[in-house]
Amino acid sequence: MRRAGRVVREVLELVRGHVKPGATTLDLEKAAEARLAQLGVKAAFKGYHGFPCVLCTSINSEVVHGIPSSKRVLKEGDIVSVDFGVVVDGYYGDAAITVPVGRIDADTARLLAATEASLQAGIAVVKPGATLGDVGAAVQGVVEREGFSVVRDFVGHGIGAQMHEDPQVPNFGEAGRGMKLRAGMVIAIEPMVNAGRPDVMVLDDGWTAVAKDGSMSAHFEHTVAVTASGARVLTE
Ligand code: MG
Repeated sequence: MRRAGRVVREVLELVRGHVKPGATTLDLEKAAEARLAQLGVKAAFKGYHGFPCVLCTSINSEVVHGIPSSKRVLKEGDIVSVDFGVVVDGYYGDAAITVPVGRIDADTARLLAATEASLQAGIAVVKPGATLGDVGAAVQGVVEREGFSVVRDFVGHGIGAQMHEDPQVPNFGEAGRGMKLRAGMVIAIEPMVNAGRPDVMVLDDGWTAVAKDGSMSAHFEHTVAVTASGARVLTE
């Protein structure tokens, strides 16, 4: 799973380098696809429940599951969330980043920083004996202290020989509640955070989830192994 995680990280950093005003989300998709072909690695999302691409690219108020397109041109001040997974020798890795396009306004920069910090806060409590409620409460605490909202309709997940395995890993909850983590488990922690209200809706394409109130939305994700000595982040 660490090998899958390394590929996920390499491709996400490659894609980050292609984010600039004037680029389309299909340009990002093509860059990722070309590198995967060089590596001989299979993308996890393409074909998953019929999803058409290797990347999910979600701009501004799009929360997750946006479809790369030649018609979606990035412009200065936008943010684009890129979610990406692979399978290597039967084991999955999954991660996401939200990238600013050129210069972004201060509130949006604060949204990105808070979302990334909430992911780190969730990772920091991972150890054998900690609960999923501990993880969710840590994420939610950071987000709400900054005045933002955790999306409830999508959650993190167990990951291993399948991309999505039990248990669900909510980005909200109460410390001490929920399943206890054990060494050897691997979970994907993936806060999706709206600047406004947490409500989302899915567009007519059947995939793209957007913030109902049109506010900006950010998404960061890591695949995280639970070890005897705490979290090991497999996608860094
Ligand atoms: Mg995921």
